[in-house]
This record gives sequence, structure tokens and C-alpha cells, in this order.
Amino acid sequence: MTLSLYDTLTRGKRAFAPRDPKRVTMYVCGPTVYNYAHIGNFRPVVVFDLLFRVLRDLYGNEAVLYAANVTDVDDKINRKATEEGVPIGVISDRYLAAYNADAAALGALQPTFQPRVTETMDAIIAFIGDLVTEGAAYAAEGHVLFDTQAFPDYGKLSGRPMDEMIAGARVDVAPYKRHPADFVLWKPSKADEPVWESAFGPGRPGWHIECTAMIEQALGLPIDIHGGGIDLVFPHHENELAQGVCAGHGHEYADVWMHNGFLNMGDEKMSKSLGNVALAHDLLKQYPGEAIRWALLAGHYRQPLEWTGDLIEQAKSALDRLYRVLDDSARFLDGVPTGARASGGEHTGATQAFDAVLGALQDDLNTPTAFAGLFQLADHLRAAVMGKDVAGVERSRALLLEAGQLMGFLHADAGTWFQGGADDDLKAKVEALIAARLAARTARDWPEADRIRGELSALNVEVMDGPTGATWRIKEQA
Ligand code: AMP
Ligand code: ZN
Repeated sequence: MTLSLYDTLTRGKRAFAPRDPKRVTMYVCGPTVYNYAHIGNFRPVVVFDLLFRVLRDLYGNEAVLYAANVTDVDDKINRKATEEGVPIGVISDRYLAAYNADAAALGALQPTFQPRVTETMDAIIAFIGDLVTEGAAYAAEGHVLFDTQAFPDYGKLSGRPMDEMIAGARVDVAPYKRHPADFVLWKPSKADEPVWESAFGPGRPGWHIECTAMIEQALGLPIDIHGGGIDLVFPHHENELAQGVCAGHGHEYADVWMHNGFLNMGDEKMSKSLGNVALAHDLLKQYPGEAIRWALLAGHYRQPLEWTGDLIEQAKSALDRLYRVLDDSARFLDGVPTGARASGGEHTGATQAFDAVLGALQDDLNTPTAFAGLFQLADHLRAAVMGKDVAGVERSRALLLEAGQLMGFLHADAGTWFQGGADDDLKAKVEALIAARLAARTARDWPEADRIRGELSALNVEVMDGPTGATWRIKEQA
């Protein structure tokens, strides 16, 4: 199996071939940390986390270097810091901590590097210097601007003609610009804004140069994969590419450009400026992070995905289905005497379903097909439990766990998953009833034991007696 990925620049899918399979590099544009991030911001987090996992599986954990940056210098951060009367670092640290906690709750692994603009300032300034030396940037009235005329391929990534780019960039055509599409690399800071010293005068960087310099510093140029949301293709990635190529780093920047589609609410992109947002921070109080992750991967990453209550409920039911068969099979195996356990048999059906999951993921992260493969694995496992086929249960259970965990799912204990919906009061009540039932059974008071079972059933709780005592779970919804 080979990994194939869709590349926005060449507009097609092709086999992924890293420059050095022992050092595979990926960079994804991260958040500006001034507020809680909405669930749309977490679509790239989850999508590229999945790719990170697939790459680690293919090339080895140590071989894959993933950098996801944090923008911690920005007008919105400045405004919030001024409102609260605190330094910008207080704002960015607060919301970065919240962002990382939400990402972890959604099952995202910590990227190898999480560079911050404030910690990359020397590299940013040096990079701008390189562009000036190469004749691709010029200083004008305290600013340094990128000279788009110095890069004949400007517009190739987004496929836009120059007039449209000028209109699309909504650049205020400052008189000091040589060409209206030229963009800012360095600008003077206003009175109340943070300021850094540089060879071009005191000021602060433009947004695009930050990413290019962070890539160079964290990973080195060129890189294998560059990712982000589709809204970043123009102008952000178009400008990053121009800077990266023109700075004289071997004239290559990124081998594959990948972009996730929008997460929409109603007919519109979820965005803070439209006000139609659901915060991950709030959703995580209502739903398990794993169910939200499933919902974010329910559609193919390049397609738009509509965020609805149904989407998340369906995600939750899908996981219930997988955890239920894992729970049932664990119980079945618990009841099998150790001597009777024997791994063996090929169980071709389960192996094929497992390969189908891997094949789908390697086909440009086709998550809907991968999910179908997980359900096939679950069906094989269910059939093996019904047929009391011990080896079959062991094999298909291991494959289901391996495939699910590769995608960042099924790490929870099944019992904990099913009790997750119960609040503390219900848990305490159930535990007390189970203890009372045990006492009744020990006293051989069968009518009382049955009465308590009925009471538990009325609470929608199913009790399972096993060799190590009774366990319970919330009943499957009809
Ligand atoms: P921002 O903080 O707006 O720069 O966004 C951080 C990341 O989230 C970028 O990769 C954006 O492209 C992505 N993003 C923002 N809004 C959405 C959305 N509604 N759907 C999918 N991706 C989004
Ligand atoms: Zn970026």
C-alpha cells in the first residue's frame, strides 16, 4: 500500500514520497490565541493529527516531525490585552493552554514542535533580510514589502489571475507599494503595540513571513507537507510560497500542499466574524471528545462538513456500537478458561476489513471508507462472539482495536465509555443498588434480588454478572 495525497498546487492526487523517509516533515498553520477556538478551527487539528498518525505508522514514530505554530502577535491579541490591562503574553498563554487542552480532549497528539511567533523573532528578521538581499523585497517608509513581481509563479497555488488577487487580497494600496499585490513583511508598530528592533527599524512582522520563518527554524526548508484550512490558500499560502522560494533556499518550499474544507454551520462557514460558532470548550462539556473527533472525520476532509446536532449524535452512536462489541467480547473472553485460549486461524474476513481501513486512510485520508471498515471489523468480532470462536474473537478484537486506535479512537475502557453518560448521583445510586442486590443474593433472598434488578432496569441500567463480580452499563437505546 502507498500513501497518496491530494496536492492543491498540482491539483491532483499522487504517491507521497518524502525527501528523506527517516525525516518526514509536516507543518500546519495553527491558531491565533486570543479567545476560545471554535470547532471549525479544530477541523485541521483533527485532520492533520490523523495524517500525523498515518505517517508515524508508515515511517516510524521518531521519523515524523510535525510543527503546528501559534500566532501570539496579532491585533486581536493586542486589543484584548489592552482591554484587560495585561501584557499580551498573559492573553496568549491563557488561550493557548485552553486550545491545547481542547486538542488533547479531541484525541490529537502533541505536535513535535509548537513554535510561537514571539520566540521566532530573530529568524523572522533574518528571513526578511535574506529576501532583501535576493532582491525579492524592498524597504519603503518604515515598511518592508515583498515584491510580487520578483516571483513569476505568484498566483500558481491559488490559480488566480493577478487582478483577482489584488481585489481578493483587499490590500489597501499604499502609495509606497511598487505593485498593488505586494504584501507586508515588516511594519512599524503603532503607539500601544508591541515592538521589536530590527535592521529595518523598530516594528513587527507581517503574518505570512511568520509561518515561513517558523518552518525554516523548526523543520528546515523545504518540507514535505504543508497544511491548513482552505481559506488559507490565498493570500496566506500563496505568499508563504513566494517568500520561501525567493529566499534562496534551493527554490523549493513544500512538496505537497493540503487543505481541509470548511466546517459550516447552516449554509455558512463557521467563523467568529459571522458569530455562528460552537466552541470546542463548550461542546466538550456535553459530549465525549472522541465523539466530536468522529464527527469531524465523518466526511472526507476536502469536502465541506455541516455541523449539526445529528452529526454528533450519530458519531456518538457509532462509537457506542464499537464499544459495545468490545465490551461484549471482553466479557466473553473473561469467561473462557485460560487453557482454552489459543490464537490461531487466519480469519481472512477480519484481516481484509483491517486492510480496508489502512487502504482507505492511505488513499488521501478517506475517513468515511475507513469508518465502514471499522464496522466490518466489528461485525466479524460480533459473529465470532456469537459462534463462540475464541481464536476468532481474539484476532478480530485485536484488529479492531489496532485500526481504531490508529485513527485516534477506542483508547477508553468500554465500561468507562458506557458509564460516561451517567452523572455522579446516578453512579452512586447504581453502585448502592448493586451492593444491596449482592447482599440479597448472599442471603438467598431471591425475590429481593430480582426486585432490585428491576429497579436498576428502570434506571436504564443493565447489570452483567461475571467471574469477578457484577458490572453495569447504560442500556443500548432502542
Ligand atoms: P484562524 O485562527 O482563523 O487562523 O484558523 C486556524 C485554522 O483553522 C486555519 O487552518 C483555518 O483555515 C482553520 N479554520 C478556521 N475556520 C474554519 C472552518 N469553519 N472550517 C474549517 N477550518 C477552519
Ligand atoms: Zn501559516
